Amino acid sequence: MFTDTSISERELAMNTSWLVETHGDPLGVIQLLIKDAWERFELDTMMLSMNGSTKPRLINDPEQLYKVNPFKPLMTKNAAKYLPQVLEDIPDSRVGVVLRPCEMRALVEKTKREALPMDRVLTICFDCLGTYPLEDYQWRAERKGSPERLAWESLHFARQGGIAAYRYRSACQACRTPIGQGADVNIGVIGLPVRQKILVNTRDSETANTLGREESISEEDQSLIDQRDYIIARLLQRGSNTRQRLAENLESILPRDLDALLHLFERCGECRECFDNCPLCAADYPARDELGLYAREDVMQWMISCAGCGMCEQACPNHLPLVTIFSQIRQQLIESIDPASQIH
Ligand code: SF4
Ligand code: SF4
Ligand code: SF4
Repeated sequence: MFTDTSISERELAMNTSWLVETHGDPLGVIQLLIKDAWERFELDTMMLSMNGSTKPRLINDPEQLYKVNPFKPLMTKNAAKYLPQVLEDIPDSRVGVVLRPCEMRALVEKTKREALPMDRVLTICFDCLGTYPLEDYQWRAERKGSPERLAWESLHFARQGGIAAYRYRSACQACRTPIGQGADVNIGVIGLPVRQKILVNTRDSETANTLGREESISEEDQSLIDQRDYIIARLLQRGSNTRQRLAENLESILPRDLDALLHLFERCGECRECFDNCPLCAADYPARDELGLYAREDVMQWMISCAGCGMCEQACPNHLPLVTIFSQIRQQLIESIDPASQIH
């Protein structure tokens, strides 16, 4: 059930996964790793959304990477929405992009619909330790003394799988998987003793070699990976339980199917906040007819490809539980296409 997020024997045999010593400073080692990737892959710029800023920003000087902290527990925008424009604005550049798992999922879905020049993009995806709603984040950061301290609190509990999920955004509580995967370079911290070691996993052995892969996994490393897999399995089960619980709690008010969702959008009128903040939507997608009604087929595809990032819910002026609504409808649609699939 969890094989897509654990390190398979095949990956180990292909030497695309290895553990990196952190000597008590995981963040410092991660910043060096990103800087090293910048140099080895000859990047011109790097896009980051996960640094506590209110929207993704570009870094043009690798020396500034010491400011990067992928574990700040705040997400206000999904970087996948902005990458196409960045690629258009700076043609012929090699661009690195640091992503959370839900941003990576959105980017994968986007590339199915849009022809993006991914050959000049290096994707780096991190395990995600969860994010707070903005006000909560600001309040907590103030209480801790700085956003950095708050981020360190998350990292401190990485080995146990992060801190209590009920404080996070509902998207994070119900996250399908917070594991960094599917990118050119994936960095793992969940389930690991981050003051000692973190995990690096690459798309293929060529990427691993360019990155200067370290030597093979020792027996001790293997037991850390087994422990990580165990924690990941527990996290995924918790996410699944949360999705079911949220759906049950809201059952009487949720749109029950795609048609009910289309009716909901009809009632929303000209509000397009969820569309405008979704990395998968565009001005002409989902399409609308002359009466302002959304095309059923487009909304269906949108739901199926939903990355579960929660940017829609965060933007909804009516505070609708869109993560739960979309997740239920996505599940229904996928099961109707393939009755054997169980994606709770
Ligand atoms: S939805 Fe998942 S991947 Fe995205 S910010 Fe929340 S925990 Fe992280
Ligand atoms: S519909 Fe919402 S949760 Fe899904 S990808 Fe778009 S913004 Fe994220
Ligand atoms: S953001 Fe909320 S109110 Fe606006 S269209 Fe989406 S669901 Fe409707």
